[in-house]
Amino acid sequence: EERFPVTSHFVLTILVGDSGVGKTSLLVQFDQGKFIPGSFSATVGIGFTNKVVTVDNVKVKLQIWDTAGQERFRSVTHAYYRDAQALLLLYDITNKSSFDNIRAWLTEIHEYAQQDVVIMLLGNKADMASERVIRRDEGEKLAREHSVPFMETSAKTGVNVELAFTAVAK
Ligand code: GDP
Ligand code: MG
Repeated sequence: EERFPVTSHFVLTILVGDSGVGKTSLLVQFDQGKFIPGSFSATVGIGFTNKVVTVDNVKVKLQIWDTAGQERFRSVTHAYYRDAQALLLLYDITNKSSFDNIRAWLTEIHEYAQQDVVIMLLGNKADMASERVIRRDEGEKLAREHSVPFMETSAKTGVNVELAFTAVAK
């Protein structure tokens, strides 16, 4: 008789958003529990990371793909979108254009991703309070307009990082 979670789900997840918003850093924080300061290469991603989370006694294996390079041209390959079951869409709370570009990202996502893809909007770099240009309620409003959940995260301090990925798995 099984006493431990046996049901396994596999969720293909991709990180999208403008270059520099902290996609790679967020994944490193989630995977390794640490923050490596300084920019990661804009063109060489770390590929993907597998991570198992347990939600409601069910094991969920997240395979998380980090997009790199392509985001500068806002043309993440369509195959990338087509297979994704979940998308973490990031902007940087200290960078207005990364926030303004969210609408364009969503347009592209709706064009190419599966209809039932799970989308979560994340305002990253929440630790940089003194340089904030996008208020939390602006993020909440945008998320509401597009009927997607929203959180502010920090890849640096780790705040809400685990929660964001677990919410996606759930
Ligand atoms: P990507 O291009 O979206 O993958 O962004 P990176 O992960 O390479 O991060 C871009 C820059 O922002 C780097 O200098 C990171 O150290 C920094 N960064 C990323 N996330 C955070 C964060 O949550 N807080 C702070 N203070 N810096 C961050
Ligand atoms: Mg990156």
